Amino acid sequence: MAHLGSEAAAYVDGQLPAPEMIAARHHLRECQSCRLAVMQQETLKIRMKHVNAPEPPHELLASLARLKDKGIEPESRWARLCRSAPARMTVALVSASAVVVAAAYMFGVSKEPAGDPVLPSVDDYALAFAGSEQSQTQAIMHTMSNTSLAELEAAGWPCPASLGTRFDRVDAALVDNDQVVDLTFSDGRQLLKLFEQSGALDVSGLDGFVPETIGRTEVWVRDGIPLIATWDADGVVFTVVTDASRDELAPVIAELPARESGEGPLDRVGNGLDRMTSWLSAA
Ligand SMILES: [Zn+2]
Repeated sequence: MAHLGSEAAAYVDGQLPAPEMIAARHHLRECQSCRLAVMQQETLKIRMKHVNAPEPPHELLASLARLKDKGIEPESRWARLCRSAPARMTVALVSASAVVVAAAYMFGVSKEPAGDPVLPSVDDYALAFAGSEQSQTQAIMHTMSNTSLAELEAAGWPCPASLGTRFDRVDAALVDNDQVVDLTFSDGRQLLKLFEQSGALDVSGLDGFVPETIGRTEVWVRDGIPLIATWDADGVVFTVVTDASRDELAPVIAELPARESGEGPLDRVGNGLDRMTSWLSAA
């Protein structure tokens, strides 16, 4: 069969007629570019869910209406919220209309957990790490083309060429039926693997992991050799497996998407405003 093309979306939604579904499945086994198209659609689907996010709390909009009428009441809940928010954002909020704030609230949600709960196969990842360690001196078997990597990036899967202070990407692959992006980084001595998969991190199933805030990211960490850290952001679960020291972890995590800790409605509006501003300035 020909490439899936515009049928990729219908395939992801399971809306192709049965014979075409089967043909598509066969084709996907052999065609990486269509597999990437399907992954893109799946990511898109997760992102679209954010747009259907709940409306801003009534309280927030009511506070804004009051703010317009009376100015800020010194000890109102709203005033307290404003005091705790960055000054830049308070100014933006006071001058924004309720409609803009409502829109910003909705656009701001994509830093919240999204997608189906996912438990990263950390033990498989640790085994894969050991395998990569052994083959580090051998030729890399399944490096993806730069084009494929660019497509993954465009679909929202970060595939940086380097990470942290000294790691360079040496390998990239799709594993687990193309459900997981498997990136390998090395500095020549130590190895770092980064796994990315769709979904929201299911922390209830994590065994031996302790929650920590590294930089501004909430991360679940399991000490040992290898050291494993996992978190989610924007509908993607990230898992880092490395034999590097803990100190090396912070700069690596800082370069990857984060769900920032302690996020309230105002942070969310702030995120949304940031997003909207960056879209406007890009246009
Ligand atoms: Zn194809």
